[in-house]
Amino acid sequence: MSDQLPELIDPVVFAERRSHIVGMLGLQRLDRLSDFLFNQEGELQVDLQFYKGGKVPIIEGRIKGHLNLTCQSCMQPLDWFVDKTVKIGMVQSIEQADRLEEGFEPMMVEDNKMSLPAIIEDEVIIALPDYPRHANECFQFTSTEKLPEPQIEEQEPDNPFSVLAKLKITGDQ
Ligand SMILES: [Zn+2]
Repeated sequence: MSDQLPELIDPVVFAERRSHIVGMLGLQRLDRLSDFLFNQEGELQVDLQFYKGGKVPIIEGRIKGHLNLTCQSCMQPLDWFVDKTVKIGMVQSIEQADRLEEGFEPMMVEDNKMSLPAIIEDEVIIALPDYPRHANECFQFTSTEKLPEPQIEEQEPDNPFSVLAKLKITGDQ
């Protein structure tokens, strides 16, 4: 079911043939993404069109699916829907990257065989929230059980480094 997508693709050949790839990709195939997930249940719905933009192979499409992220507040699973628009130019030089149409991200072609799951995985990782957390229903999972003692974070005393860090962010005033 979840292994319908090709593993290796040649972006040039795919672009010349105007290949259209539609299929499902099981999350268990994506090892790097698993670091961000509560579990690897589920799959991604992939719809990618290949074509040539000038000499550059273009991949355009969409990746959708439900992921179980880990809520950073209660460490429980957080259902998160990824819906990532894909607009990639497979470039071979900085010059080609500079000439890409606005809105397209350059990806360096290292080889004529590239891993399609790896490309998809990169796109999903980019789209992940920095700090996943439940909007307002945190701790409901454990409400019938004993709640853990609230952890009160001790305030770090001011130190010159944190002041420096703030200055760096805000700039000179
Ligand atoms: Zn939560």
